[in-house]
Amino acid sequence: MALDVQKIRADFPILQRQVNGHPLVYLDNAATSQKPQVVIDAIVDYYSNYNANIHRGVHSLSQEATDVYEAARNKIQQHFGIQHAHEVIFTAGTTHGINLIASGFSSFLKKGNEIIVSALEHHSNIVPWQMLCERTGATLQVIPMKEDGTLDLSAYISLLSEKTKLVFVNHISNALGTINPIETIIQKAHEVGAAVLIDGAQACSHIKPDLAALDVDFYVTSAHKMCGPTGVGMLYGKEVWLKKLPPYQGGGEMIKEVSFEKTTYADLPHKFEAGTPNISGGIAFGAAIDYLNNIGFDAIEAHEKGLLEYATEQLLQIEGLRIYGTGVKKTSVISFNIEGIHPYDIGTIVDKLGIAVRTGHHCAQPIMDFYKIPGTVRASFAFYNTKEEVDRLVAAVSKAKQMLT
Ligand SMILES: *Cc1c(COP(=O)(O)O)cnc(C)c1O
Repeated sequence: MALDVQKIRADFPILQRQVNGHPLVYLDNAATSQKPQVVIDAIVDYYSNYNANIHRGVHSLSQEATDVYEAARNKIQQHFGIQHAHEVIFTAGTTHGINLIASGFSSFLKKGNEIIVSALEHHSNIVPWQMLCERTGATLQVIPMKEDGTLDLSAYISLLSEKTKLVFVNHISNALGTINPIETIIQKAHEVGAAVLIDGAQACSHIKPDLAALDVDFYVTSAHKMCGPTGVGMLYGKEVWLKKLPPYQGGGEMIKEVSFEKTTYADLPHKFEAGTPNISGGIAFGAAIDYLNNIGFDAIEAHEKGLLEYATEQLLQIEGLRIYGTGVKKTSVISFNIEGIHPYDIGTIVDKLGIAVRTGHHCAQPIMDFYKIPGTVRASFAFYNTKEEVDRLVAAVSKAKQMLT
């Protein structure tokens, strides 16, 4: 079933506004997505009608808030094909989830161990591992990338050995849109006994991962890239791992009993959820998941594929324009440059025409170093974007080129 895009657009108040005298064309979805009214309403409803702290009070409001918050956890569990609700840990987002795992693994790693990341990672999936290596004496290895923006799988396989303890790769690259072959990556890592963490921040707005089928050890994502609010996300971990890992932060909610001699930690998931969480955020994350599933991921994928193909074809009509990331498996992200023009200048001119794109290194400097460029212009499309918006982008980029050469 094709999407009724006009009907969908009416769900997003922000898509009705003007920017610099033009109707907004929002093509920065890889940085954060826009929010439909139902998600905004979920936040307002919580604060207006049942605001209370969760998991603590005997009073009715607290019970109500706890029920809705835990229902959101169940929605996340079902959406991602997770076996147990207590394997879903609410976090502040992807970066928080990665740091939680990196910190926990400090107690498992020692000198001589190796951990592997990919050349396509976001900074938030590089820096915590470098810090972990400094703390433990483990060494960091990198899966190299190829000219088309895909990972070199045979190089990956030759990096693996019984020294490998952990592998970290993103599901989809935010800078290039490349979909990584995580099924193979996970399977090969497991063959040498290494655990795998997948950074799904960029994937979950485009596809619906089945975590049980993937047999992945850890998977992290952020709500704000999938129509939910900022400041909330999820960490999935296999029960065996979550039981083994030490808590990340100490505080209320994560303990069973406290005395100055000894504290015993709460059961999962609370062991990893110290302090009062982002209650409205968790609830609205659940509302966002419902919203996306009502549209349907098959329809979302088909629509975005159409936009990607059309935009690629149209942009390549502009002479001197080069697209980075040309692997066959990619999502609706187009990173490009025009010969002799700085990406920032293109971004500035198209903004004057009401078009929001991202320019720069997209928190992935190693990729820019690989291509020997300072950055790119990145247009990233969501299911609520249209072909007319692609046309406006192409016209604006052509105009920028004229003005700058
Ligand atoms: C956005 C993004 C992150 C960081 O997510 P936060 O919500 O800022 O924590 C990490 N990895 C990828 C691939 C991303 O796209």
